[in-house]
Amino acid sequence: MFKKSANGAALPALYRRFLLAFLLLGCVILFMSGLRSALTHQNFIGKEYSSLTERSQKRLNTQLDAWVTDAKRTVSELEFLRIDQLNDAAKHAKLTAFFTAQAENRNFEAVVITDALHQPLYSNACQTLTFTVIMSQETMSLVSCDQQTATLFHIIELPIWLGEKGTGLAHFAKQITPATLRLFAPNNGASLISYQGKPIESSEGNSRLDEWKRQLNQQTFNNAPAMSLTLSWPNDPHTTLNILKPLPKAEPWWMVVMPPLIVVLLSLGIVWLILGRWMEKQSVRVNLLWSGVQNYAISQDSSKAFPFLKPFADREQQDDISRLGRALVRMIKDVDRSRERDRIFNETLALLEEAVVTIDSDGNLIEASGGWLRLTRLATPTGERFLGYIHPEDREGWLLKSLQLIHNEKDNIHVRFRLNTNQQATPWLEGRFLAHHNEAGVLTLRGALRDVTQSYLQEQQITHMALHDALTGLANRVLLEDRLKQSLLLCERNEQQLAVLFFDLDHFKQINDSLGHKVGDKLLIALGERISGCLRASDTLARWGGDEFVILLPEITDAEAVRTLSDKLINAMQIPILIDENELPVSFSIGVAIYPNDAADIQSLFSNADRAMFHAKSQGRNQACFYSDMDYKDNGKQELYIQNRLATAIKTRQITVHYQPIIDCSSGKPHAVEALARWYDERYGWVSPATFVPMAENLGLICQLGELVLSQAFETLNRWLTNGHTLIMAINVSSRQLFSPAFVPGLMTELARHQLKTEHIILEVTESLALRDVDHAMERLQELQALGFLIAIDDFGTGHSSLAQLQEINADKLKIDRAFVMRIEDDKGHNMVKAVANMATALHLKTVAEGVETEAQKNLLCAMGVDYLQGFYFAKPMPADDCAAWWLTSGDEKAG
Ligand code: C2E
Ligand code: CA
Ligand code: CA
Repeated sequence: MFKKSANGAALPALYRRFLLAFLLLGCVILFMSGLRSALTHQNFIGKEYSSLTERSQKRLNTQLDAWVTDAKRTVSELEFLRIDQLNDAAKHAKLTAFFTAQAENRNFEAVVITDALHQPLYSNACQTLTFTVIMSQETMSLVSCDQQTATLFHIIELPIWLGEKGTGLAHFAKQITPATLRLFAPNNGASLISYQGKPIESSEGNSRLDEWKRQLNQQTFNNAPAMSLTLSWPNDPHTTLNILKPLPKAEPWWMVVMPPLIVVLLSLGIVWLILGRWMEKQSVRVNLLWSGVQNYAISQDSSKAFPFLKPFADREQQDDISRLGRALVRMIKDVDRSRERDRIFNETLALLEEAVVTIDSDGNLIEASGGWLRLTRLATPTGERFLGYIHPEDREGWLLKSLQLIHNEKDNIHVRFRLNTNQQATPWLEGRFLAHHNEAGVLTLRGALRDVTQSYLQEQQITHMALHDALTGLANRVLLEDRLKQSLLLCERNEQQLAVLFFDLDHFKQINDSLGHKVGDKLLIALGERISGCLRASDTLARWGGDEFVILLPEITDAEAVRTLSDKLINAMQIPILIDENELPVSFSIGVAIYPNDAADIQSLFSNADRAMFHAKSQGRNQACFYSDMDYKDNGKQELYIQNRLATAIKTRQITVHYQPIIDCSSGKPHAVEALARWYDERYGWVSPATFVPMAENLGLICQLGELVLSQAFETLNRWLTNGHTLIMAINVSSRQLFSPAFVPGLMTELARHQLKTEHIILEVTESLALRDVDHAMERLQELQALGFLIAIDDFGTGHSSLAQLQEINADKLKIDRAFVMRIEDDKGHNMVKAVANMATALHLKTVAEGVETEAQKNLLCAMGVDYLQGFYFAKPMPADDCAAWWLTSGDEKAG
């Protein structure tokens, strides 16, 4: 691996770079040297040109000077010859001889001597004639002796002493021949002389003069590029000397390239030897680092990385790569440590009850702590859609909340949902989530969840408890008031009506007292169920407290609908409720208030319904009373009024006593009368004792009331006894009365005051009262019995006393409640009354049937062996005088 990576990565790149650098360097050097050589050549040519000019000019001047020197020497020789002293002929001959003698090394082709007036005196020339002619015409500087032969001469004019003729001039003509011109031409070059722009002679001869002219114009020489220069002939404007010289040849390309190339290659070699070897070494070290890190990245095992990183451990090595190596080792150790920390942390996390989860932006569960497995009881925790774990009904809630996080609307969210499991008890999870963006901006949701099933259920229970009655599970006041509030708002908007029905269970207290709270509780539960059975789902049944219930009918069409319902409810109660094998007859007093006719707000609705219920009770229980039907509804506060009036009524003796006869079944004759308190109020008319007796008990007026009734009743009885009637009188004794310490003494005082005996009096004690505090009551009753009073258990059948208790009380009479008598004509009622009668016989008790209203009832009761009968069939409770009159007239008839 290492070898491969070493070859494959850094080194080849290093080589490539080296090569590229040297190629570039080579190119640059080549270009520079090319450029330099071109510039040097140009410079060389320039220099060559100026040196050529200088040399040519010098050559020309030297030659001309040499010619002048020659000419001067000739002149001095001539003057030495003293030819001026000779005659013309001799002169001529001497000069000719002179020139002939000099012919061998003659420097000049012609010499002409003229006098001061330029008249030729002597001429030594082959072409003398032409020469002379031209000389006479031209200035004597330069002449051509013959246009055909195109010969050019250079004329040197020197003064010469002519003796008597004075000073003349000696003209020396030097012919410009190819040989002369060759003196002016440079090596390998040529020269050309032109006269008045026309080429006359060249150093190469005059045969190819035009060719030379062309070459001169084109600056070529023998078809090679050449340099040319033009020199003007001294003292002669018509004559020019052209010099041609081939250009020095540029160096061949390889000559230019070779030296830099050699330099580059040499330096490449040297650099490679020095730097390349070193870099190769470093590259190998870098590869070692790479291998170490790569191995660690793949295996995550530092022991596989450290062998590669070992060479860098030496602290002496202070180069960058060594430092990097050591830094990597440190880093790997750090990573190992933090991995270890993570592992420990995760292990600890797994111990938690809570689950820690991470969800990616696609909603996949990507990380989960051990707690998640425990919460979900699932084996494959990650990679799944998180939504799949959530109960279908809770998914929408989760999505909405998680979107708040994703859209940055919230920093964290609180969630609660059920798990989507097959388990029977669906676990509830609760937790917090927050959004996390990593450096790349990728979003994940992280959260901690815990199982809150237990506390959730508790919470549910608490909420339920807060709004429901603990015993019956029905709505409580709080929930009822809330529902009523909502319904009122709806009614207001929709212009509808609603009804509140106040229920009070008749005689519940007795049931509770006699059969115990457990039975009472069961009865309430059963009642709740029975009432609910009569209601619609939208109606609310609430337990108001104790034995009071309230029904809210949120949408009613009219009062009639409520009447139908209340009838239905009362009918439903006709069937006794079976609790622990006790058949409990139940009856209700119902008060109804309707919104908006009877009241406009919650409190008034409740209190008016309550009043109506109170009224129903006062009207003899087991009935419904509509607030709108109450005579005194305008004044509203009836009970308050009655309460306020009661004390006055007692004090002012407004309360009177009516008497209801009790008939002996066997003889058909009146056996006794029951004294029943009556109150006629000017404002409300007759107020039922069922209303004011409990009220007097509550207000602490029961003893006064009792005394009032007693005194009236005893007085009447005394009167009747005095008139010769034999009868006994039943007096109702309420619980407070019975347990009041003043009761027995007061009773005895009144008895004595009216000269009555205890055997004339039956004390009627309700069944529940007798059984409430059995020991205490028993004591009282035994005390009364000992005094000679007869004891009757009133309202028997509603108090659910047991046989054993009845036996203990040892009463004289049992008054079977009207509720049983009412149902005597059906089998069940019949059997029940029969059973009571049989039981009473077994206990040696006399039985009295209350509320006999029909003849059929009378006959059945008699046939069953009931001893005494009481009811409207015989007589209603009447004032004393009416009763006495009835006694005399119709008493016997009816009973018969
Ligand atoms: P109670 O002792 O059960 O009295 C009998 C009640 O039944 C009387 O009601 C009577 O008018 C009524 N009644 C009798 N025959 C019939 C019938 O054929 N049909 C119907 N529907 N009712 C019948 P009242 O007078 O309204 O008395 C109600 C209760 O008030 C009495 O029930 C008694 O518990 C109590 N009470 C009445 N006067 C006194 C009193 O002076 N002292 C005490 N402590 N309680 C009294
Ligand atoms: Ca009674
Ligand atoms: Ca009764």
